Amino acid sequence: MIKLHDKYFKPFISEGEIMAAIKKIADQVAVDYKKETPIFVGVLNGAFMFVSDFLKAYPHPCEVSFVRLSSYQGLTSTGIVESLLDVPENIEGRSVIILEDIIDTGRTVKKLIDLFSNTKVKEFKIATLFYKSEVYNGEYDIDYFGIKIEDRFIVGYGLDYNELGRNLREVYQLNQKHMINLVLFGKPGAGKGTQASFLKEKYNLKHISTGDVFRYNIKNGTELGTLAKSYIDKGELVPDEVTIKMLQDEVEKNPDASGFIFDGFPRTTAQAKALDDFLVTKEMMIDATIALEANDEVLIQRLLERGKISGRTDDQDEKMIRNRFDEYNEKTAPLKDYYDDQGKFHSVNGIGSIEDITSRLAKVIEELQAI
Ligand code: 5GP
Repeated sequence: MIKLHDKYFKPFISEGEIMAAIKKIADQVAVDYKKETPIFVGVLNGAFMFVSDFLKAYPHPCEVSFVRLSSYQGLTSTGIVESLLDVPENIEGRSVIILEDIIDTGRTVKKLIDLFSNTKVKEFKIATLFYKSEVYNGEYDIDYFGIKIEDRFIVGYGLDYNELGRNLREVYQLNQKHMINLVLFGKPGAGKGTQASFLKEKYNLKHISTGDVFRYNIKNGTELGTLAKSYIDKGELVPDEVTIKMLQDEVEKNPDASGFIFDGFPRTTAQAKALDDFLVTKEMMIDATIALEANDEVLIQRLLERGKISGRTDDQDEKMIRNRFDEYNEKTAPLKDYYDDQGKFHSVNGIGSIEDITSRLAKVIEELQAI
């Protein structure tokens, strides 16, 4: 696994496979063009390595030139394809074969066809080393391709992620599974706080407890804290957008975290949807929600013990505790369904020693990592 900027990538296509694919393309083109001297036009920047190895594998006379376009920023195509270095001169009457590193949606191909349509070339063909055939929606049939790949972001062998990774000899694929984002549910007394602190150490996760985040923002008088307080003072619920904004700040403050444990949010299905929508904008998602389950009677005993020590009045009254449990059951039931429908809901037995419970949680997380 390698890390470029903030993302992890895993090995995907070896140098040997790349070279074999290039030889295959070069052999096919050689059969079609051995009687003339074609001009190979590489598309910069990504295709520089491909052009170099392609020329070495091409056995007949040929010329080479480059165009430069730009369309990708980060991990997604911006959709705007600009020409930064124009078509070569004196190509009239010549056969031109474009050498592209990768074809994705086909926007670049369309732009290339536009660029070359004004020139009086004899013939115009496109060869690409990597081809995301499932997402390609261009009208032009690709003439030569090396390796078909699924719609996953790749780097290496000329291809970059924000300019890094071009020098790698193999191709790597974005490891979207590397982050582990969890939602932790549990009744009062179920041991969420204790377990969250173990998990965050073990897996380099950041524990975001919404209650703590609120208190921090309000205490420090941040813009969002002041806004949240204005609702609380009026006795109103803080709107989900404000809470999400605070969570967003927490996520952005921790670029090195391998994931997040959300605790205390979401509490409603609407909030769960809002959280999903927000995570999508960060190319993240909830991988699992874990509910620490425990028998009510056991929890009541635990809380009453805790109340004696801490003096927390809400932990000293059995009736108040039962009310909190009822509220929890009522609120989490729809959320359980929401995450269950996505196959993400895990229930973990919260009775036993702290270590036993931690290892039950670890088992769930390690299964996620193995995917
Ligand atoms: P298209 O215009 O076909 O959507 O995208 C083609 C261009 O987008 C490529 O020339 C390349 O610059 C970039 N691109 C598409 N898919 C990937 C990918 O998986 N990884 C990298 N690094 N760039 C890509």
